[in-house]
Amino acid sequence: MTLPSPQRLAAIGSFHAHVYFDGPAQREIALALREQIGQRFSVALGRVRDGPIGPHARAMYQVAFDVASFGKIVPWLMLNRQGLTVLVHTNTRNERADHLSHALWMGEVLDIVDPQQLAADIEAEGPRPVNTT
Ligand code: ZN
Repeated sequence: MTLPSPQRLAAIGSFHAHVYFDGPAQREIALALREQIGQRFSVALGRVRDGPIGPHARAMYQVAFDVASFGKIVPWLMLNRQGLTVLVHTNTRNERADHLSHALWMGEVLDIVDPQQLAADIEAEGPRPVNTT
């Protein structure tokens, strides 16, 4: 069997963690967790989204972090997610693959809504747009 050539780690520009919540009790936990994350790590915290926003099927917020921080933030979330569902995904130049196949789920695996809306090949070069995906 011949596999495709492995992708290089250098393809990963950064990571996102999306922390999902469902209902007021989980929202409260999620916001407290967001505060802890912000206190401990050098991350960019996204706005709290109180409803689904494409491609995310549930209310959530985003935590953006660099490649070097992965080994601290992801294990910390594994220990401290308090039962919340968390999606960690790569940011390469293929948003669709980042969400569908370069994805690491903690807890429940949720749907990725309308993945065909996600770019499969972002133009090389130029700054990455700030986005909610
Ligand atoms: Zn994302």
